[in-house]
Amino acid sequence: MKPLVAIVGRPNVGKSTFFNRMIGERLAIVEDLPGTTRDRLYGDTDWNGRDFTLIDTGGLELGTGTPVGQVGLTGQPGDLMDHVMAQAQLAIEEADVIVFMVDARSGITSADEDVATLLRRTKKPVILAANKADNAARRLDAVEFYSLGLGEPIVISSIQGSGTGDLLDEIVNAL
Ligand code: GDP
Ligand code: MG
Repeated sequence: MKPLVAIVGRPNVGKSTFFNRMIGERLAIVEDLPGTTRDRLYGDTDWNGRDFTLIDTGGLELGTGTPVGQVGLTGQPGDLMDHVMAQAQLAIEEADVIVFMVDARSGITSADEDVATLLRRTKKPVILAANKADNAARRLDAVEFYSLGLGEPIVISSIQGSGTGDLLDEIVNAL
C-alpha cells in the first residue's frame, strides 16, 4: 500500500483543482465501500520517484466549487463545517501526510482556525498550502497564514501551477 496524502480544508479553497492537476486522467478509484462515504477521491501519483496516493476530501457531497456558506446536498448549513472537521479528523487517523489548504485571496477565516486547532494536535506531518496566490501581492499576503501555528505556508497557485513543485517536494520529504 502506498503512503496516503490527504488534502483537507474548507470548501472552495482549491483542493480539487490541485488534486486534478496532480491526478488528471489517472483518477480511477472512487471509494464506495460499505461504511465509507462517497466524498473522498483517491488517486495514485508520484513525484521525484516517490509513489503516493492523494486523497481529495469533501468532494462529491458538496460539489466542486460550492461557495462557502451555501448548502450542499446534505441539506443543513451546519453540515458544511461538520463535514470539513470530520474530513480533517479522518485525515489525522488515516493519512501519512496532511496538506491543509487555505485561500490566499480570502485570507484566514474562522473555519480555517477551527481546522488548524484540530490539526495542531496531531503528530503527523501537516503541510500548510496557501492557494490562489496568483500574483506577487497575494504571495506576500499569504505570510499571514503563519499565525495558524502550522509553520510557514507553501504559497501556490493551483491554476497557474506556481509553487506546486515546492509543495510536492515538501510532501515527499514528509513521507
Ligand atoms: P475545493 O472546494 O476546495 O475542492 O475547491 P475547487 O478546486 O473546487 O476550487 C474552487 C474555485 O477556486 C474554483 O472556481 C477554482 O477554479 C478556483 N481556484 C482553484 N485554485 C485556484 C487558484 O490557484 N487561483 C485562483 N484564482 N482560483 C483558483
Ligand atoms: Mg472539491
